Amino acid sequence: MNYIVFDLEWNQAPGGRYRENPKIPFEILEIGAVKLNHRRKVVGKFHETIKPLIYRSMNRYTQAVVHMDMEKLNKSRTFSPVVRSFLEWCGKNPVFVSWGPSDLFELQRNMEYYHIPYQFPRPLLYYDLQKLYSLGYLDGKKRPALSEVVEAMGIPQEGQFHAAFEDAWYTAEIMRRMNIKPLLNYKSVDYYHLPQNHGEEISLDFKTYTKFVSQLYPDKETALKEPTVTALSCNRCRAKVTPRIEWFSGSGGNMYYALCDCPKHGPVKGKIRIRKGPGEEIYIVKTIKAAGESDVDEIIARKDAAKERRQKRVEKEKARRKAAKKAEGVPKKTVKTRSSGRRSRYRGTRKKTAAGSAEQTAT
Ligand SMILES: [Zn+2]
Repeated sequence: MNYIVFDLEWNQAPGGRYRENPKIPFEILEIGAVKLNHRRKVVGKFHETIKPLIYRSMNRYTQAVVHMDMEKLNKSRTFSPVVRSFLEWCGKNPVFVSWGPSDLFELQRNMEYYHIPYQFPRPLLYYDLQKLYSLGYLDGKKRPALSEVVEAMGIPQEGQFHAAFEDAWYTAEIMRRMNIKPLLNYKSVDYYHLPQNHGEEISLDFKTYTKFVSQLYPDKETALKEPTVTALSCNRCRAKVTPRIEWFSGSGGNMYYALCDCPKHGPVKGKIRIRKGPGEEIYIVKTIKAAGESDVDEIIARKDAAKERRQKRVEKEKARRKAAKKAEGVPKKTVKTRSSGRRSRYRGTRKKTAAGSAEQTAT
């Protein structure tokens, strides 16, 4: 087994987003990589620039960061032969390592565009070293720039940043100097190929937590009705858990939280992240972890905040309706419900109360 620590540089449409080819918004122009064996000793290097075929001039934002000139790139080979050489150089069962989550995604998108046949395993797991560094040395949430970490670790700065080989080399140097063993559990899932049906859904056990990646759904409401999406079980023993706080949405509406108890292992927390798939569809990533005391407090606080937000919304809506009614001058008595047979059409939006005023019901 070898680690392939790699980095890509790419260009985007020089005329801005409306000029881009949606099938390949980022065209790869350079691949740099360092091969480390299981002891993290350097056993190989790869570097090649690529002749662009889609965007023939540099996007000005790209140009400002990436130091490449078209004249030199035009003397390079095109993507297809370069990526074939790269994948051959990677060898069998490579374990990819990158700084951040986007390189492996863009590599596959470029490969698909050029119909390069290569069977990546599914699910494709890799190491996002930026995340591992944060988990091991920072708060686990920050995502530091490569240059910051190179500086913090005292790695000699020989090459420039934002050049594929140099960045791959720095990333490999960081990996070599890190206390990596306790972090090797934390593999990332690549989301380029998303599950297309229930059979392809991904369930992974990372010892300290479990992760589930759903199939695509038209919207989050549909997804959250699906039992496989909302199911909770203990991440350690898989036992059925007793819910303490049912799924509720955090601020922003793209995160959902739940808290439950395993009879054997105590509190367990669930988190659902709604993620945008290709097009309009969404998919969900659910993680289940043991919850410490502070986690329990945090979820309770979030729940309280969510309740408060909902109450405020309801009050605001009430006030708005009241004001609208006043402005229209509609006498209360004329607000009528339909005959009982057609009532269901209005259920969930308005409910008549004894006083005759409309009140919002929970949906
Ligand atoms: Zn358990």
